[in-house]
Amino acid sequence: MDTLSGKTALVTGASRGIGEAAARHLGELGVNVVLTARTASDIVKIAGEINENGGKAIAIQCDVSNYDDVLHTVEKCVETFGSLDILVNNAGVVEPIARITDSDPVTWGHVIDINVKGVYHGIRAAAPVMEKQGSGVIINISSGAATSALEGWSQYCSSKAAALSLTRCAQLELSPGGIRVVGLSPGTVATQMQIDIKASGINPVSRLDPSVHIPPLWVAKAIAYLATDDASEFDGGDFSLRDEGNRARVGVG
Ligand code: NAP
Repeated sequence: MDTLSGKTALVTGASRGIGEAAARHLGELGVNVVLTARTASDIVKIAGEINENGGKAIAIQCDVSNYDDVLHTVEKCVETFGSLDILVNNAGVVEPIARITDSDPVTWGHVIDINVKGVYHGIRAAAPVMEKQGSGVIINISSGAATSALEGWSQYCSSKAAALSLTRCAQLELSPGGIRVVGLSPGTVATQMQIDIKASGINPVSRLDPSVHIPPLWVAKAIAYLATDDASEFDGGDFSLRDEGNRARVGVG
């Protein structure tokens, strides 16, 4: 794997779960890390711990559904570290889980605002910076839900399908400018999101035994792998971490 040391990454949804693991792992690899989430206290604490361990990290409160927030975060990232090399569009929600006939149109739309528009906002704000640099990698955290239907998850499945489409469109438009865009479908991961899914009791995912979920660190390692040019054959699509061959490439499993 080629080195990521000295590069700068912006990770959305870094206050817990996959985003937190990615920020910590990238920090250990010598990457400058910008952590964002809505909960400022959590990202400030995690950024502080990365710095205490010899890394370089800052925390910026940001709601990805708000474009001005995302643009400000990208500007602050470049101001602080001089570049933006890796954007991890990780922030996402699955709640509210409900069958379509029970769903609330307003909260259904909030999932689209975060999982779809949030990914678009990240790409829209970061791409001009990366085009100017002539390089950059955008990693969109996807899901098996992007290509399958699950009861009670119409908001989530639709949003992840749209995010996969954004990966494809962005790769088409941005690759001539030296930017790679790739999705990552991790399988089920032991985070707060799976605790919420279990509590819902809807559809087979909620009935999975928690022991089948992979640790967030595996996903963090996959993110680091995808950030290298070694992974360029996967650009424009979703890299599945359920695949044994892909796990071997990442060095997990
Ligand atoms: P999680 O533990 O619930 O963490 C979600 C993160 O997103 C938190 O840091 C949360 O922080 C942040 N977030 C939510 N809404 C936000 C917003 N509007 N603006 C900024 N940040 C926001 O979930 P996770 O399991 O780590 O999931 C991370 C990603 O992986 C999601 O895109 C999810 O769809 C995907 N994924 C997860 C699994 C799984 O099994 N866990 C499987 C496939 C895909 P704040 O609340 O502080 O904002």
